[in-house]
Amino acid sequence: MGYRACSSRHLPSIPADRQCHRPAAEHSLSSPRPPHTVSPHTMTNVPPPADTPSPDAPSFAQLGLQPRILANVARAGYATPSPIQALAIPPILAGKDIEALSRTGSGKTAAFALPLVQRLLAAPRPATDDQKAPQEGVPGVVRTLILSPTRELASQTANAIRTCAHGCQLMIGLAIGGVPKDRQTRTLRGGADILVATPGRLLDHLTDGTIALDETTCLVLDEADRMLELGFVEDIQTIAERLPTRHQTLLFSATMPPAVATLARRLLHRPLHVAPPEATSPPPRIRQQVAFVAAARKNATLIALLKRDTPDRVMVFTRTKQASDSVARALESAGLSAAALHGDHSQARRDRTLATFRRGTLRVLVATDVMARGIDIEDVTLVVNFDIPEQPETYIHRIGRTARAGRRGTALSLCAPEERQLLREIERQTSARITAIDPS
Ligand code: AMP
Repeated sequence: MGYRACSSRHLPSIPADRQCHRPAAEHSLSSPRPPHTVSPHTMTNVPPPADTPSPDAPSFAQLGLQPRILANVARAGYATPSPIQALAIPPILAGKDIEALSRTGSGKTAAFALPLVQRLLAAPRPATDDQKAPQEGVPGVVRTLILSPTRELASQTANAIRTCAHGCQLMIGLAIGGVPKDRQTRTLRGGADILVATPGRLLDHLTDGTIALDETTCLVLDEADRMLELGFVEDIQTIAERLPTRHQTLLFSATMPPAVATLARRLLHRPLHVAPPEATSPPPRIRQQVAFVAAARKNATLIALLKRDTPDRVMVFTRTKQASDSVARALESAGLSAAALHGDHSQARRDRTLATFRRGTLRVLVATDVMARGIDIEDVTLVVNFDIPEQPETYIHRIGRTARAGRRGTALSLCAPEERQLLREIERQTSARITAIDPS
């Protein structure tokens, strides 16, 4: 169990006995692991550093999951735990706080959902829980809270949790913006065993008195780095202050910049650091390529490549919303099935675009980093970096949209002369082997 770290919105200093004694700078892409890190090299019986399980990987049962949960694992079609699951499930079951470096696509949702469902089934229901029928003026009890940076990730996470909790009679709630609050309010008044929420809408419900967090036993911060990039640090702090003093906190993040490490120090109590090696390097099944082209030729180059190679499902990343609109328009004008996905679109439009892409009706999704973060779409065969990301972590995240769940994929970067330095930095920091191809 962890302890809520502080009571001020402004992140005051932490008492010495509550600190992790871990300099923020320890968590960089290339730095050594801190002393309490669990990695496949410090645990026996865990898989090697890849998504693909090894023959000596532990079974889900060996991780401590019980038959009821194992049945749902089998139902989901998971044969062997992924590295993050092998590392994170036992300490989560034991009630420990964890700080996990884990990219999307690594199976991290099940890594926290499976043990949390098991813990909820084992724990006695809160005293106030006999008020299941929604009552005006009585806030719903939330037992486990999962914070997600985007509405899309939150919905996806709620669905993944429903799979893990199949037949367990748990209430899985969703509190996200972009949809009317009234219906959410009515449902949430009845409480939730697990509530997946984006910070803004959650705060609205807390302010309205729709829900209360004073009986919440676990807080999960999913994609913590992205939540901080989106400016949610104060919201997270405010929400954490509403939890009881004793609770478990799990922080998952694809990268550990100093701001995330600082947040972790404030909210986590003696956390176990979990870092599968795959978290800091691109999966080996991704063929990484670069085409050197002038910025003005990028649209034409992309169109020619997509027409020549006809990949089925393509994600194109752009840094800005404007760029994603203009690239999508250029592809559409060239007769390709393409659409943009970014935060200026209404929620209904974003949902529609994602649904058509998932179905395969839409072939090319042109997305900003923020929008595409955490989105799990199988069978993306090609990822295109329309621009070279400024952060190597973003590069790893983008290309991780392909080669998911053991498949293969290609990541192609379109690199203008002025972006070569960024590409060199990515190669240096990720030890990536990026092969130059002739785009003509
Ligand atoms: P996530 O990293 O949580 O977004 O998960 C990525 C994808 O991997 C999802 O489609 C999961 O259903 C799938 N997945 C999670 N765990 C496993 C596993 N142990 N074996 C195979 N697929 C998995």
